[in-house]
Amino acid sequence: MQVERKHRMTRQRQVILEELRRVKTHPTADELYFIVRQKLPRISLATVYRNLDLLYQEGKILKLPAVDGVMRFDGTVTPHYHIRCTKCGRVSDVMLDVDLNLERKVARRTGYHVTGYVLEFEGVCPDCAPRTEH
Ligand SMILES: [Zn+2]
Ligand SMILES: [Zn+2]
Repeated sequence: MQVERKHRMTRQRQVILEELRRVKTHPTADELYFIVRQKLPRISLATVYRNLDLLYQEGKILKLPAVDGVMRFDGTVTPHYHIRCTKCGRVSDVMLDVDLNLERKVARRTGYHVTGYVLEFEGVCPDCAPRTEH
């Protein structure tokens, strides 16, 4: 009984992680819940929240700062930048090399012990940009 329960938890967490890595849209917990339900119809929103927390603690996913009041999740943990659309709120990955020395440079300049940083670009995504007439 105990083992079966544990096994189900692991399977749920695995599906949540796989779907989050697949979508690349940086979904909110609610959005991910609807995606995961296609595969696990009986999963609850609370379970999705709990597993996202666990995955975050294990360093398998990232949390994006809640600029618009909504926490978003990212299945890509290799260093990369983000750009957020100020109209629709979508968050896209920026496929540029990340300056891995940035934290060290900031520490040297300020004397701070730097533990992390938040750098996010803002703009209007292609879908929201007004179409140019020709
Ligand atoms: Zn947009
Ligand atoms: Zn990302």
